[in-house]
Amino acid sequence: MPDHMRGKAQGIERLYLDFDSFFATAEQYLNPDLRGKPVGVVPLDSPNTGCIAVSREAKARGVKSSATIRAARQIAPDMIFVVARHDVYVRLHNRILEVIETCLPVANVRSIDELVCHLLPSEAKQGEALANRIKQALADNFSPVLTCSIGMAPTELLAKIGAEMNKPNGFAEIHADALPHALNALSLSKLPGVSDGMEKRLIAAGVHCFEDLWRLAPKQARAIWGNVEGERFWNGLHGFHVERPKTKKRMFGHSRMLPTDWRTPDKVEACARQLTMSAARRLRRADLFATKVTLSCRGGGYRSATGSRKDDQRWEWHAQLLPARDDRTFLRTLRSGLQVARKEMGFRPRSISVMLHGLEEEALMTGDLFDVSPARHTETGPARKASADWERISAVMDKLRIAHGPDSISLGPRCDVPGGYLGAKIAFGRIPDAADFNSAAVPDEQTHFCSF
Ligand SMILES: [Mg+2]
Repeated sequence: MPDHMRGKAQGIERLYLDFDSFFATAEQYLNPDLRGKPVGVVPLDSPNTGCIAVSREAKARGVKSSATIRAARQIAPDMIFVVARHDVYVRLHNRILEVIETCLPVANVRSIDELVCHLLPSEAKQGEALANRIKQALADNFSPVLTCSIGMAPTELLAKIGAEMNKPNGFAEIHADALPHALNALSLSKLPGVSDGMEKRLIAAGVHCFEDLWRLAPKQARAIWGNVEGERFWNGLHGFHVERPKTKKRMFGHSRMLPTDWRTPDKVEACARQLTMSAARRLRRADLFATKVTLSCRGGGYRSATGSRKDDQRWEWHAQLLPARDDRTFLRTLRSGLQVARKEMGFRPRSISVMLHGLEEEALMTGDLFDVSPARHTETGPARKASADWERISAVMDKLRIAHGPDSISLGPRCDVPGGYLGAKIAFGRIPDAADFNSAAVPDEQTHFCSF
């Protein structure tokens, strides 16, 4: 059914909750010594990295959320830097969901620190009192430092806009009949999904303010966005609920920034092996097979006057293989790729990425791993038997890791890759679960302070 047939939401039907500077406030909640202080959370213990979140005390002094450590120290010399602890945040996220569920059912989790609830008319009527009840439950169960901002509106998009409007610890209610004037003061770049590039395209199309955007026809929005997202945005803005089709998993990939002392061929190889095994484990958990492996590196480049780094070189290598999901096949493929890299790359990589793609479902192949069918291509006899054996070995190793901890077994030497949390980083739209983490759990109270 097209979106516009679904009926227009006239009342308040959605509540959007977005935590303020989540990683930074999470660290302040977990370690009371950090409260009231400028804190920056960085992805790895290196002086050359940038923040992924800064506390409100840092923001108040003018430190941007994504400031480099150097830039942040120039503004706030007493700033404290801590290294992100993804498993700790995921556990906290799960406890947060439980607390929110005591007030209101959570309809969808949108990221580690954002979620949406569907409201009944009786709940919608409560307005800010409902939002305050959720905030109070969070303060009671965690700490008043762990604040969120809440928006209530007819659609998820409008509620999300509302949650952004009065940060931190904000609240906004947007009513259909108050549009567009209620949002006229909002600059386009403040809208969810309007990146710098999209803002330029909007301006090029004569859309300079919210009112211009509001007046577009759905087809015009689609043309400016260049895809169906434009029409979805239009629907969300005009009070129509947008249901997204489920995206089909297309690849399992991991990438990693390499600290300066990890850019030698041996260290790159050690890191690539861990990334590959981590991606392979996720592939097996999803019950899929991969037929392509891509290895890529970025590096070279220069540092601009503002301190941001531009990488101008990229090296990529692709391999095709028979449908596989065992560690040994991927590690052998990786080894050929790394041999090519040693000969051809020609620059020291700053980051590396491994991707398993060309996914196939077991169901589309054959029911029995030992059954040789055309779908499993031409590999027969001893070679096919060997990969089936390795699939079983990988599966047994996965089970051992689940039962006895992620450190219990590995194929080849284990190594600790800087930044940790290999393959289990929190990304937009992906919250790892406990089985994704490849090393022992970090206790909540063990803040990981930067060492420099
Ligand atoms: Mg947030």
